[in-house]
Amino acid sequence: VADVLIVGGGIIGLSAAYRLATGGRKVRVLDSSGARGASWVAAGMLAPASEASFGEEDLTRLTLAAVPAFTAFAAELEAVTGQPVGLLTEGTLAVAFNPDDRVALDRLTEFRDALDLRTETLTGRQVRALEPYLAAGVRSGVLASDDLSVDNRQYLNTVASAARSAGVEVLDGSGAGTVTHLFRQAGRVVGAATANGVEHRADLVVLCAGAASAGLLDLPVEPVKGQILRLQVPDRLRAAGEVLTHTVRGLVRGSEVYLVPRRTGEIVVGATSEQQGFDVTVTAGAVYELLRNAYELLPISSEFTFYEATAASRPGTPDNGPLVGRYDPGLIVATGHYRNGVLLSAITAEAVARLADDEALAEEWTPFDPHRFDH
Ligand SMILES: Cc1cc2nc3c(=O)[nH]c(=O)nc-3n(C[C@H](O)[C@H](O)[C@H](O)COP(=O)(O)OP(=O)(O)OC[C@H]3O[C@@H](n4cnc5c(N)ncnc54)[C@H](O)[C@@H]3O)c2cc1C
Repeated sequence: VADVLIVGGGIIGLSAAYRLATGGRKVRVLDSSGARGASWVAAGMLAPASEASFGEEDLTRLTLAAVPAFTAFAAELEAVTGQPVGLLTEGTLAVAFNPDDRVALDRLTEFRDALDLRTETLTGRQVRALEPYLAAGVRSGVLASDDLSVDNRQYLNTVASAARSAGVEVLDGSGAGTVTHLFRQAGRVVGAATANGVEHRADLVVLCAGAASAGLLDLPVEPVKGQILRLQVPDRLRAAGEVLTHTVRGLVRGSEVYLVPRRTGEIVVGATSEQQGFDVTVTAGAVYELLRNAYELLPISSEFTFYEATAASRPGTPDNGPLVGRYDPGLIVATGHYRNGVLLSAITAEAVARLADDEALAEEWTPFDPHRFDH
């Protein structure tokens, strides 16, 4: 019998597992895919300012609180494992091409200023001074210097090794790791059953199955498909210095694209946002559009090596905010992180540890109670 059973070993489940284990609990994680869900596919932007959207002020307050939690967590993980997570601090540069793009960007900047998010408006010339390879057609930009990014795969691997060294047991695969249902006794959740017929019992179950969470509990979580590309800057280009240092987000004639650089020379190009159920196939049209928009923004990208096109399901919710809290006796829910799960992983892990100790959550969590959509 584990003290805590975690269902789903993506970035949310593994971060929570690590935090609970360092708090002295015996933790078992059940994961169906070997952590190859959204957390593996994601871009790794940690971007409260450039993700802030109209009507999502509560979410912005949470994502702002998530940044210091993330950097402290990342530093702890790097110290514990000796592995880097690939954190970059240059910030996000949002750029516009034509007058319409600029109007849209200006409206967002006004809204972000009203929330006291630190951004700085730049001319086309100032933008190109920061990123000399950007297209000549870029007319203006906004720099969000407090936004960060992380190499989500290095980070995920680091969290997984830290969790294992803290004593977390991970069972994965389609048989041993796939939970078919949670089971209850006298109204209390007391464990989970896996596809190989094993019943795992625990004092506490934490549901972190990402986009698949609604298959195990009646939650308003729906998959939102994202297709994304990984390119590599060839060494001959890198020899003259990095081709891209900031995360660049562009509105290219109304269509959004982002490029996220890594210290390794990888450049992530994303992403589509599609309501397609659990389909995670890669389509020719999406690859075409992402490459075309990347090329419009950064013409030199046509010389990069193309090495991966993937897709995953973001765990979407009706208000785009996560579902984190006590759900039923014996059950905590930590899912629905939609576009921000990597950023929110550390602060969610802290929240889960507090909930496990029956402690109250910080105020910024109040709007994200998992029962808020109950009728
Ligand atoms: C294209 C794309 C780009 C993104 N970019 C960013 C970004 O830049 N920044 C950011 O913060 N976020 C980003 N996100 C969002 C982020 O990836 C997610 O919010 C986050 O990964 C959610 O983490 P998770 O652990 O809940 O889900 P997942 O990583 O999907 O993990 C869920 C795990 O549960 C397992 N599972 C499912 N069902 C079961 C079951 N029945 N039994 C056992 N295990 C089960 C799955 O196999 C999986 O490993 C992006 C997402 C996509 C798709």
